[in-house]
Amino acid sequence: MVRKTEARELRPVNPATLEPVSAPEEVAEAVSDARLAAAHWAQSSFVERRALLGAVAAAVLDHAEEIAATVTAETGKPLVESYTAELFVALDNLVWAASSAGGVLRPERVRYPQPHLRHKRGWLLYEPLGVVGVISPWNFPFGIPFTQAAFAVAAGNAVVVKPSELTPLSGAWVERLFPNGLVRVVQGGGEVGEALVRAPGTAKVVFTGSGETGRRVASLAGERLRPVTLELGGKDPMLVFEDADLDRAVAGALWGAFANCGQVCSGVERIYVARPLQEAFVEELARRARGLRIGRGEELGTALGPLITEEQRARVEELVDDATGRGAELRLGGARPDVDLPGWFYEPTILTGVEREVRIEREEIFGPVVTVTAFGDEDEAVRLANGSSFGLGASVWTRDLDRARRLARRLDAGSVWTNDVSYSYGTGQASWGGTKESGYGRTHSKHGLYELSRVKFADLDRGRVPVPWWFPYDEGVLEGFRGMAGMLYGEGLGRRLGSAWRHRRGMLALGRRYFSRL
Ligand code: NAD
Repeated sequence: MVRKTEARELRPVNPATLEPVSAPEEVAEAVSDARLAAAHWAQSSFVERRALLGAVAAAVLDHAEEIAATVTAETGKPLVESYTAELFVALDNLVWAASSAGGVLRPERVRYPQPHLRHKRGWLLYEPLGVVGVISPWNFPFGIPFTQAAFAVAAGNAVVVKPSELTPLSGAWVERLFPNGLVRVVQGGGEVGEALVRAPGTAKVVFTGSGETGRRVASLAGERLRPVTLELGGKDPMLVFEDADLDRAVAGALWGAFANCGQVCSGVERIYVARPLQEAFVEELARRARGLRIGRGEELGTALGPLITEEQRARVEELVDDATGRGAELRLGGARPDVDLPGWFYEPTILTGVEREVRIEREEIFGPVVTVTAFGDEDEAVRLANGSSFGLGASVWTRDLDRARRLARRLDAGSVWTNDVSYSYGTGQASWGGTKESGYGRTHSKHGLYELSRVKFADLDRGRVPVPWWFPYDEGVLEGFRGMAGMLYGEGLGRRLGSAWRHRRGMLALGRRYFSRL
């Protein structure tokens, strides 16, 4: 829990005792406890992991009402979103990881067609890392840390989660739902996060948050040669082509830009519309956005809750003021709404005529604000979309699936959706992650499981076949390898046989050495 008095005086407190939470010194202790749990869990079979994760899914369902209520109380987001974007996200990822980890991470046979290695038996083994440190943000305060923890546990690890200091109660649920001490939660701000990155027992850090903090986490981890996955900010473009279903595109933009009050890493922040459609699009988007109900998340029918802090609202206001001061046209919003609540609300806001170099077009806004710009042709649309330092997601709105396929390749982003946005975070099988300043590494999907594992190559050899490149070295062996190089790796049969013939003496010497040792 956090006393939101003034933005600069956020004080994380223990939700049970209301005392200040984890001191950085306690983090190392939590990590070392988790190591014991990890050592035991690493020995578990995939059947056991599946059973344990099944029990976690049941616990989530048993407590669904309480978890959703906690999330809505801490963030102000509509209750429906606490279900769709938190509980559903958590459960889908959990269930996928539980049922897929065994298939993805089972030992993989490595085969050798090379004649001199044919007798070998190679395997790729995917082993747990140990303790995974998960540092998470406030915008999906249950869905994100839970999902990261579920994948890590499915891969055989234990986890220490550091939730955002703005949403500690939602984060605390994650620990409560996993048995056997497999997931611990440490509460506090940046200093507690840093202690988790530094703790000697932390094998890897999965960080979700802002680019600024991500850089700090990566450099701290880098000093310790500790791997990190960085899920950072975004500034997702939405490309609406002339053949798009306008009604669906507007509905998608409305949700993509204003769900969670715009506080979504893959939220739509830049809309590019084919020029002939632009005016109709903006008018319809503004008409529907005007109808979105602003208020308490607990009240059904509320579409927009407040921003998370006063500071965040001030930042949104600053970006909008800067844009209008530099010639942007305010088509809707741009002010605090008239609601009978003291919270940090802001109207859904639409801007047009924003120049590319203006801050609001370059920086992550993280509020209910979207810019709409016209484009001429596909090349221009791609240039505009890719002309950002971020690369988390992008969406293409068209009836032409060939165009969609083409653009999926051309857009520089970790995920590209067609006639939809963001949904794939809520599925286990789709990879998640960004390019450029949106971070590196992948979570979710088989790649998420691989990144939570240590790959080991294991070679099994009965030790009966001689190794031709061992000592002694002599002229015959050198000549033999000259011939072998061409014979094994040359292009075409003629070249291969030619090489063997040219170096036949050396090849015979190599053969003698080989057979004499059998
Ligand atoms: P933030 O960077 O301020 O905080 C994220 C977490 O890092 C919090 O738990 C915070 O306490 C912790 N932290 C702060 N300083 C730290 C330090 N020095 N060392 C270690 N940990 C530290 O981000 P936020 O405001 O909580 O979240 C919003 C940001 O997260 C946005 O940029 C958003 O786009 C991004 N985000 C990205 C994704 C994604 O999947 N790519 C998802 C959600 C949010």
